[in-house]
Amino acid sequence: MKKATPERHEDRAVRLTTTEAPPASDFIREIVAADLQAGKNGGRVVTRFPPEPNGHLHIGHAKSICLNFGIAAEYNGVCHLRFDDTNPTKEEVEYVESIQEDVRWLGFDWGDKLFYASDYFERLYQYAVQLIKEGKAYVDSLSADEVREYRGTLTEPGKDSPYRTRSVEENLDLFARMRAGEFADGAHVLRAKIDMASPNLNMRDPVMYRILRVPHHRTGDTWCIYPMYDFTHCLSDSIEGITHSICTLEFEDHRPLYDWFLDELRVACHPQQIEFARLNLTYTVMSKRKLLELVEKGHVSGWDDPRMLTLAGLRRRGYTPEAIRNFCERIGVAKRNSTVDMALLEHHLREDLNKRAPRVMAVLRPLRVVIDNYPDGQVEELEAVNNPEDPSMGSRKVPFSRVLYIDRDDFREDPPKKFFRLAPGREVRLRYAYLITCVGVVKDERTGEVVELHCTYDPETRSGLSVEGRKVKATLHWVSAAHALPAEVRLYDSLFTTPNPGEAEDFTAVLNPHSLETLRSCQVEPSLASAAPGSRYQFERQGYFCVDAEASAGRLVFNRTVSLKDEWARIEKGQQQE
Ligand code: ATP
Ligand code: MG
Repeated sequence: MKKATPERHEDRAVRLTTTEAPPASDFIREIVAADLQAGKNGGRVVTRFPPEPNGHLHIGHAKSICLNFGIAAEYNGVCHLRFDDTNPTKEEVEYVESIQEDVRWLGFDWGDKLFYASDYFERLYQYAVQLIKEGKAYVDSLSADEVREYRGTLTEPGKDSPYRTRSVEENLDLFARMRAGEFADGAHVLRAKIDMASPNLNMRDPVMYRILRVPHHRTGDTWCIYPMYDFTHCLSDSIEGITHSICTLEFEDHRPLYDWFLDELRVACHPQQIEFARLNLTYTVMSKRKLLELVEKGHVSGWDDPRMLTLAGLRRRGYTPEAIRNFCERIGVAKRNSTVDMALLEHHLREDLNKRAPRVMAVLRPLRVVIDNYPDGQVEELEAVNNPEDPSMGSRKVPFSRVLYIDRDDFREDPPKKFFRLAPGREVRLRYAYLITCVGVVKDERTGEVVELHCTYDPETRSGLSVEGRKVKATLHWVSAAHALPAEVRLYDSLFTTPNPGEAEDFTAVLNPHSLETLRSCQVEPSLASAAPGSRYQFERQGYFCVDAEASAGRLVFNRTVSLKDEWARIEKGQQQE
């Protein structure tokens, strides 16, 4: 069997913008399958998702979660959830909890395979001692600035620290005293003794331990020295018996170090590190540092602000785990960094919601309509289909009466070309109800604003009855004024005005000032009275909406998850440009 080349997979990434389905496999799955076939790792597949608990998970993490848990599931393996908690200054229990909630919400289960790098602190310490004893690690007493200075640059080799030649005994003694808390923060570090002239900067005697008097969320003040990421990660993988350690591309240059520690320590299990391209999405920032800044500076209401591409934000916005998983499967994995169009994520969202979201009628910007010839006080319960895509979802009754609301956008006193909705003298259909004709327009005397329409209805045209020869070009949604429920609706637009906000000098300077519009006088059909937070609907002709977490009994609040494609806006824009 011919092995796939990385180039083939890069092609795959480029083809993302086309509509064809992706191939079933990718280069990582091919490696895993080949290893299984060759009998490597005793036929086991063990992956891990290793978040640092210093922030909430975002859509980029979802790609890694789907990949690691997905591969484990497909190859009869297991996937560990491991908290990479080696930096107590930025880590918090809050994040440990939210990360677990988010992974579970996405639909993955780690069973009893929940681990913390901090559980390995004692073993890691012993590994460090072993390296010291073998002359492969030393205590350095240069200041942080000096360490940086001695490190050299990409074009210049580094210089050996004067402390590099310390004896094994002295190193053991100093390292033990570092642990015992005898030295101030920053006084010493433990470094691997590799090669200060290596072309790979990661190999220039990387720091393994630093002194840090910060209590840890799990180990309290047991430790005042903490291991660095590169030393911790490979050994955590090894301790857990990970077979394939999948990480993002920026760790490619760290792989020699990953292998160096494991080789020098002659560990029984030496996992294979495999790198893939991280997910970048247009119109968003993905780094936790930037997301934190948005929260801390109050640009958003919190980590779960529905405009945030955190999993908590996406969930509150109304995203389904299925939509995110389908998206991750569709983008696949490649070896080359690229930026995926936000529209692709929304495409998968619409596709999923179209299947599952019940349809309801909601009027966001109400315009009062009086049906002059409809009997005062009469109410009809009209049959409305819950989801034309899924007959098993059944139907419901919607009350119809003399006074209704329609959306302001559905009426033009002076309709432009191609505007087929309601206008003076024009007949349209009301969804599930009757044909109505606009016979009068009431305006505010002072402002000239249209405040009410008068219409007539034709009782012979009730929905479901055949109406020969009566062609209308528009069907409008509506609610009955006496029965409708007031609601607040939050319309979201992208948080940034440019496709690559991460590249802006100051990404907060390209925030979209109109990313949130709150509509407070919406009217929704009465079937939504008991809609629970998190439930999702299609507001007919408008988009998908979900009940916000802030909603309560008697106070309906909806988030617009995603709009339906608005053809009219596009057409109108085109006309203005002509
Ligand atoms: P950030 O850069 O956003 O702060 P991170 O890489 O520091 O993220 P970790 O908690 O260390 O965040 O990430 C856990 C795992 O998720 C790692 O394996 C990391 O490679 C992966 N990951 C993080 N961001 C992305 C992304 N945008 N696309 C794919 N995988 C990602
Ligand atoms: Mg990281």
